[in-house]
Amino acid sequence: HMRLRIAPSPTGPIHVGTAHTMLFNWLWARKQGATFILRLEDTDVQRSELRHEQTVINEMRWLGLDWQEGPDIGGPSGPYKQTQRMELYQEYFERLKTRQMIYPCYCTSEELEEERRHANQAKIPYKYSRKCLNLSQSERESKEISGRIPCWRLMVPENQIIAYDDLIRGHIEFSSNVISDPVLIRPTGMPLYNFAVVVDDASMEITHVIRGEDHISNTPIQLLIYQALSLEPPQFAHCANLLTVERKKASKRKGDLSVTSYRKQGILPEALFNYLALLGWTPEGEGRDLLTREEIIHEFDISEVSRAAAVFDEEKLKWMNGVYLRHKTQEEFAELALPFLIQANLTTEEEIRTRWSWFVELMAQVQERVRTLAEIPSYVDFCFQEVIYDEQAMQNLLTIEHREFLHRVATVLKKVDWNVPSIEQAVRGLLHEPASQLKAGKALLALRFAISGRTVSPPLFESIYLLGYQKVENRLTKL
Ligand code: GLU
Repeated sequence: HMRLRIAPSPTGPIHVGTAHTMLFNWLWARKQGATFILRLEDTDVQRSELRHEQTVINEMRWLGLDWQEGPDIGGPSGPYKQTQRMELYQEYFERLKTRQMIYPCYCTSEELEEERRHANQAKIPYKYSRKCLNLSQSERESKEISGRIPCWRLMVPENQIIAYDDLIRGHIEFSSNVISDPVLIRPTGMPLYNFAVVVDDASMEITHVIRGEDHISNTPIQLLIYQALSLEPPQFAHCANLLTVERKKASKRKGDLSVTSYRKQGILPEALFNYLALLGWTPEGEGRDLLTREEIIHEFDISEVSRAAAVFDEEKLKWMNGVYLRHKTQEEFAELALPFLIQANLTTEEEIRTRWSWFVELMAQVQERVRTLAEIPSYVDFCFQEVIYDEQAMQNLLTIEHREFLHRVATVLKKVDWNVPSIEQAVRGLLHEPASQLKAGKALLALRFAISGRTVSPPLFESIYLLGYQKVENRLTKL
């Protein structure tokens, strides 16, 4: 039975690169009917935080991913947090010791730093000198008596070719001679990533590991650990890292490319899901950008994933999100929009619920125009609060003639039936009067400015209609 896992470190919100790897794992698990497991790699105790664990779980669920075993739901191969698996690491550590595959290293960080400096100066890749490999029992004892606590290193065999077949990259070989004896256990007893990940993947019977290409150089080390433990390694697939549009690695540290930040901007989970799925994977057929979750699951194949880095283009994501927003019904769109208006302090839930159909109509005016939900407040704020006019724009747009026009609009609107066609007819009627010297375009711009405080707004007559006569009159006569 196939078992896949994702093993994020709860050191911050989920980065889009991590979300991308999660998605590919989830898709391949779904496609293959495999079990999907969430495991938290929290051995970096300095940087791991409980609140981030919850964020990881929440954001994965928000994106529509699910798992059959994990820290929140348990499962037969738990616990699913590394810090709760210490006994297991201890057990595998003893095995390696018994098999004499590891040795204690007493070098201080200063000594190791010195070795690194030499390698740097000689411009050769750094490899641990193995100073501690052949210490005699009494040498070890005297180090321990002097208070040194060792870390433990794997003894990398010499002249061995370490090879594996990557599901995305094909056959890959490394010479063991370039690999420095890796530290598996810190002096504190904490396992390092390469050791813990092997123990976890082996004990959870993981069959396929899909992860980012930044782990390619870890793979031979992990294969050596499997070998030292006489365990069968899983199959590996390394996806390309995402690049930003500037063609830089879209790393955790650069900018806030987190799932949380896109959710807060009002990107829909289905749009992010669709967009991420197409980074490094292309479905068959020309220009197929918009695919449903089911289509993606059905067509996805890990062996078709590209080795070339894909560019994470926020503009394209927003475009796609706009398409998804326009596919919503007016009612759905209004529901999605509401929290963003509350967040922007424009209104309250209670206020909107009492005039829900008005709100749905108002939102329908912007549905065609926005790419993200967070853009909505700036389109409709004038419907919820007093307008603050820009002095300069006011002087440019509102001549004496234009002000008179606005007052006349206020007067005629008082008498019309309050619906969009009547409002439009009344306003245009004023412009068509023989006495009117005003150019229609400029006059309507002045009207738009007067009611909204801006020169770009949702459709003018709809805006007037939705604002209601009282507010429109106030604004027109005040200027
Ligand atoms: N915690 C590692 C990461 O997030 C897991 C790598 C792996 O999948 O082995 O990069």
